[in-house]
Amino acid sequence: METPLTAAEPMLWSGWGDPAKAAELPAPVRDLLAGLLGVRAPATPPATFGEVRLPPVVLPPPVLAALAAIVGDEHVRADDDARIRHTRGKSTPDLLLMRAGDASDAPDAVVLPGSHDEVAAVLRLCAEHRVAVVPFGGGTSVVGGLVAVRRGFAGVVALDLARLNRLVSVDPVSMIAELEPGLRAPQAEQLLAAHGLTLGHFPQSYEYATLGGFAAARSSGQASAGYGRFDDMVAGMTVATPRGTLEIGRAPRSAAGPDLRQVFLGSEGAFGVITALRLRVRRAPAVRAYEGWRFESFTAGTAAMRRLAQQEGPPPTVLRLSDETETLVGLAKPTDLGASGRDSGCLLVAGFEGSQGDVAHRRERAAAVLVEAGGVHLGPEPGEKWAQGRFSAPYLRDSLLAAGATVETLETACFWSNLPRLYDAVRLALLGALGSPLVMCHISHVYATGASLYFTVVTAQTGDPLGQWAAAKRAANEAIVQAGGTISHHHGVGRDHREAYAAEIGDLGAEILRGIKERLDPAGILNPGVLIP
Ligand SMILES: Cc1cc2nc3c(=O)[nH]c(=O)nc-3n(C[C@H](O)[C@H](O)[C@H](O)COP(=O)(O)OP(=O)(O)OC[C@H]3O[C@@H](n4cnc5c(N)ncnc54)[C@H](O)[C@@H]3O)c2cc1C
Repeated sequence: METPLTAAEPMLWSGWGDPAKAAELPAPVRDLLAGLLGVRAPATPPATFGEVRLPPVVLPPPVLAALAAIVGDEHVRADDDARIRHTRGKSTPDLLLMRAGDASDAPDAVVLPGSHDEVAAVLRLCAEHRVAVVPFGGGTSVVGGLVAVRRGFAGVVALDLARLNRLVSVDPVSMIAELEPGLRAPQAEQLLAAHGLTLGHFPQSYEYATLGGFAAARSSGQASAGYGRFDDMVAGMTVATPRGTLEIGRAPRSAAGPDLRQVFLGSEGAFGVITALRLRVRRAPAVRAYEGWRFESFTAGTAAMRRLAQQEGPPPTVLRLSDETETLVGLAKPTDLGASGRDSGCLLVAGFEGSQGDVAHRRERAAAVLVEAGGVHLGPEPGEKWAQGRFSAPYLRDSLLAAGATVETLETACFWSNLPRLYDAVRLALLGALGSPLVMCHISHVYATGASLYFTVVTAQTGDPLGQWAAAKRAANEAIVQAGGTISHHHGVGRDHREAYAAEIGDLGAEILRGIKERLDPAGILNPGVLIP
């Protein structure tokens, strides 16, 4: 696999990723859009950078000056460019709003601290002046995690952690590395590669997302079956809060009361700012091998995935099963998987990373399970094709939006026994809310007890794409809650899932979170409106 190791270019302000990598729609997708979904180009072209409407800066000049005194003049930016690039994240509504030239949620200023002490000082100052603070990593949130409520605050600053970008230390005995939160994933991998190490965390947002964002939003990468979720990698962390600093994690496991790491993992900037992470690392693999398998149906493939997740010994590093529709759409040549049309079956990608001997052994064991479960081996080609294109789909989303299609992804998880019910419920909810969209699904994160479901939905945009998105989101959220899934397996809560999260954890659960928030952030300045029901 070719993993980009260098830091990416600055992100496109109105869409995803490196502007130089904008993707053309492949012909089969174009045909599907027009023929199947009735997609037509939007009436209005997207706003240019110069047309974007920004609210005035309301932060009092003495506060701006005090912030500059902490981090340095050049690290407080209130120019249009910085404000626009720190407006919201990269969810579908975020992109629709930016394409419409609406930057009404822009922060007044962007503050770039250079150390833990500067973060702590900024938080104290902002608490004193009631300035809302949005911790900002890579800005790739897809759940509204970077949109602060302004009401009741003297202003809003985005606290961009990009300058906290060091590999602080490596403990090769314990296999733990201390890294700063503003490191983007490719930068972190590059620094660790110099020591022969890897995190093995490759989410689809890999090029731009940061370590702090992974921890704060409980990210899960495409190789989670082998390397685990990001929250599994966190051995310890340093957190700055308006009330002071916490150092958490002094042993791999502890019976010393509840694990405070769990308070901050998934806290989405609402409880504190993560300023250092001590992460479990692995030796960089010598061999990476990916391959494809065909299953008759999603049901048969799911059963095979479960058997692999529940077998003795380590599962493949990557495990990914597309349902019938996703398999069909993803195929350049449907005949690759046997029959055409809905009989194409389902594609399962299995990937193995490690030493030569380890990979060979695990491959053999997995093959035995997959053959017994009805799988047909397709060789390395489908696996390699997936590995090559694994970071390109987000670029396609921009092209689809430009073509007049709304594209949304959403994910959930539950225990194996409930998975078919959850799958049907979410599909039906999306079909009901959107008429006749294209709904695709895959499973790419598995556990002994259950798995996640990741849906991609494509539909023709109406004249009110934001209203259309909101209706579909509401329907999907309700279906997830009612069918017993969690509202998020790895995207987090943000603003978009807050209501459903409240239903998931109940009144007492919400009260506990509010209690923690009040104790750590009495002025309520940290990411107001996000996460806490
Ligand atoms: C195209 C695309 C593909 C994606 N694919 C995946 C995927 O495969 N797997 C996955 O898990 N997610 C995925 N995501 C979601 C997103 O990338 C993750 O949620 C990621 O963890 C966010 O990291 P970030 O650095 O961009 O954080 P941001 O978006 O900047 O922030 C996310 C949240 O964390 C808070 N935060 C950020 N840094 C800190 C810090 N140091 N301390 C405290 N709070 C902080 C923010 O305030 C915000 O609430 C995808 C997103 C996009 C746009």
